[in-house]
Amino acid sequence: MTRTAPDSCPGVLRLHQAADGPLARIRVPGGHLTPAQLVALAAAATELGNGAIELTSRGNLQLRQVRDAAQLTEHATAAGLLPSPTHERVRNIVASPLSGRVGGLADVRGLVGELDARLCAEPRLADLPGRVLFTLDDGRGDVSALGGDIGVHAVGPDEFALLLAGSDTGIRGTGAEAVDLVLAAAEGFLEASSGQWRLHEIADGPARIVESVGLTPGIERVEIEGAQDIPIGWLDQHDGLVALGAGIRLGALDARLAEFLAAVERPVIVTPWRSLVIADLDEWAAEQVVRVLAPMGLIFDAASPWLHVSACAGQPGCAKSLTDVRADVTTAVESGRVLPEGASTDTAGEQVVSAEDVTIAGRQHWSGCERRCGRPRGDVTDVVATPDGYRVD
Ligand code: SF4
Repeated sequence: MTRTAPDSCPGVLRLHQAADGPLARIRVPGGHLTPAQLVALAAAATELGNGAIELTSRGNLQLRQVRDAAQLTEHATAAGLLPSPTHERVRNIVASPLSGRVGGLADVRGLVGELDARLCAEPRLADLPGRVLFTLDDGRGDVSALGGDIGVHAVGPDEFALLLAGSDTGIRGTGAEAVDLVLAAAEGFLEASSGQWRLHEIADGPARIVESVGLTPGIERVEIEGAQDIPIGWLDQHDGLVALGAGIRLGALDARLAEFLAAVERPVIVTPWRSLVIADLDEWAAEQVVRVLAPMGLIFDAASPWLHVSACAGQPGCAKSLTDVRADVTTAVESGRVLPEGASTDTAGEQVVSAEDVTIAGRQHWSGCERRCGRPRGDVTDVVATPDGYRVD
């Protein structure tokens, strides 16, 4: 596939004109946020946006209805969220959110900063499309399963597999070599591309990059499994501290709630599943966080129906939408029509039903049109708006 136009991914410096106003996307490599950055984001959402911070399926953040782009740039720059004006849209780096704290074969936290800094330091890599996704997986397989373009996947404490278009190439490197491999592959992407936005769109893209990297693949391959459970609730860290996984309703974090999160004064990690991890808490602090922030909307209960649902922007944010999808899915959750996995329902198999009649069990994604923006990967029931109601695929 050859694209005829550059990608139109928004950033802080290039806003997208959504139906409800300008939209900014802020890259957060590895999802790593400091309390000070959360404070800055909450202030920007309140003073310049619609009061919410949206979490994306790549662990980035969005502000809607941005009233003053120049002020947003100032806020983001001061908070360290815009380290490179030239490279801001290529900093799409997801990393295993629990790495170094809970599970995993290796600690990839240091690779996030190294990859980000070296990506931004190479002028030519500013030409990468804003759609290219880098994945740094600590061996548990959570972010490798997202089908990124270029990534490394730990196969041992100091051994990484190079992944291209979501599959193992057979090329291996140490932790010290991991970022070299990723950057060499990024250079290879630019050489092989004739305008494509994603690696899988380039004919023989992975093979051509393997050749350009100049390393000989081994015969072993890691099988990348499908989607994994979102980390939710109490998680014991290796160091005796506690991490809390918290779901966010439809991925929209209220600015006031973000301020409370910042006040906890611990690292917060944005996950690519529109949830957060609040890390490095002692047990007492973790209990207080649950007690105070659960009533404000953070979801610490893995059985919550909110964790089954996702939705596109819908009306009024998207001009293509046939309906206010997020209002419809909210009504469905609140009226008990989003059921646990495996529950029996009458709504299935290409039916078109009114919003009030949609009743579905398990993971589901609601969309305002056939494009199905933001659909998670894996086994998900699609609920797609049509002129006559929702079709359940
Ligand atoms: S799925 Fe359709 S309605 Fe929803 S955000 Fe995408 S283009 Fe808009």
